[in-house]
Amino acid sequence: MGLLKDFDQRNRAALGEELHRFARELYPICRSITGNGLRRTLTMIQNRVPLQTTEVPSGTQVFDWKVPKEWNIRDAFIRSANGKRVVDFQKCNLYVMNYSVPVHSIMPLNELKTHLFSIPEKPDCIPYRTSYYKEDWGFCLSHSQLQALEDGEYEVCIDSTLENRSLTYGECYLPGQTTDEVLISCHACHPSLANDNLSGLTVATHLAEFLAGRDLRYSYRFVFIPGTIGAIAWLARNIEAAQRIRHGLVLTCIGDKGRFHYKKSRRGNTEIDRAVMHVLTHQTDAPEFLEFSPYGYDERQYCSPGFNLPVGCLMRSVWGTFPEYHTSADNLEFIHADKLAESLRVCAAVLDVLEDNHRYCNLNPHCEPQLGKRGLYRPTGGGTIEEELNARLWVLNLSDGDHSLLDIADRSKIAFPMIRDAAELLHQSGLLSVVSESVADGKSSPEAAAPSVAVARRSQS
Ligand SMILES: [Zn+2]
Repeated sequence: MGLLKDFDQRNRAALGEELHRFARELYPICRSITGNGLRRTLTMIQNRVPLQTTEVPSGTQVFDWKVPKEWNIRDAFIRSANGKRVVDFQKCNLYVMNYSVPVHSIMPLNELKTHLFSIPEKPDCIPYRTSYYKEDWGFCLSHSQLQALEDGEYEVCIDSTLENRSLTYGECYLPGQTTDEVLISCHACHPSLANDNLSGLTVATHLAEFLAGRDLRYSYRFVFIPGTIGAIAWLARNIEAAQRIRHGLVLTCIGDKGRFHYKKSRRGNTEIDRAVMHVLTHQTDAPEFLEFSPYGYDERQYCSPGFNLPVGCLMRSVWGTFPEYHTSADNLEFIHADKLAESLRVCAAVLDVLEDNHRYCNLNPHCEPQLGKRGLYRPTGGGTIEEELNARLWVLNLSDGDHSLLDIADRSKIAFPMIRDAAELLHQSGLLSVVSESVADGKSSPEAAAPSVAVARRSQS
């Protein structure tokens, strides 16, 4: 089918602009792990792709966690004695500690300061802070703003609500030829933060748009969820669906200028791990591969031992390592149209591998077949005849029913699309047969997920 070839027909610059425009539309919304900002974000995604939303009532037990009360905010400010709003939620939603309980009071600066957060080392940045599971209130401001506050009385107002309502998440399901699923997951709970949050949302939404309506081998499930509690809630309600996940990616921090990083799944050598590493090695400059660790984004939940799903995390700069992370400097200038487009292309290239990673059998395995008499000593486009011929010889040699095309691409160090094209040509020429899907799907391979899911089911009963 050639997803990547199709992707490359598109105008990349225009696509990048489109991705950045969507990030700009989402940026002003005050999101959180629950509430109307999250719902509005999902509605904006729903305007582009078929999205089903689910409301999980506050207080619902999800594994070891409870869905928290729903938080909404209308306004917040700190007003000085002369009536001026010195800190104003309407100007930037990061000013309020996310999940702050309501407060309206007048207090001296000394008392107020126990509720103010800044970063002395980054005096111009507003930090992003949350207090989801401890009822508290606070304001975040730049250190220079904090230092400029004069002694005196301040009016403090946070017009928020914390009520028993629900937690919302969205799913876009695109059915394919098999019910085996590819999961794409990103968190949608950060307020005005661009790389950490919006880059993943925009790329995932456009990836779903790109895939919608195609004849695909796998079924695709895109989940747009609040971080941690959303993934836990989704998994708790979808133990059966989780069993069908053959490959998965968490997308985050993929709009900045940094080089690509891929954090492997807990199992470390699954097909998704190998597909992403292959694509990044062949398509991008100096990518870095990180071993799994039990901190980071929602791969922590998907890779918890009861699920142990083949889910890795694709990033550019790694969360927590760039100075803009979780501050107001992670803004729309920190993410770039061309970088978003390149990240979307990498995702398309990874899915291109997954969709076409079949196994073949050489029907003429005793010595090399004579290619010339079959007209296979000619280039068909793409590369030079030497490269194409090399790819054909590798495919013929390793097509023993055991090696997948990705195995062959890795071993030959030839990029997957050229190996796939060689296999298709050899198949058309009658030199290869396709090994049946059930084997190609890896159901008999060590990465099949059945044992861990059995554990997850037991923990339910
Ligand atoms: Zn974050």
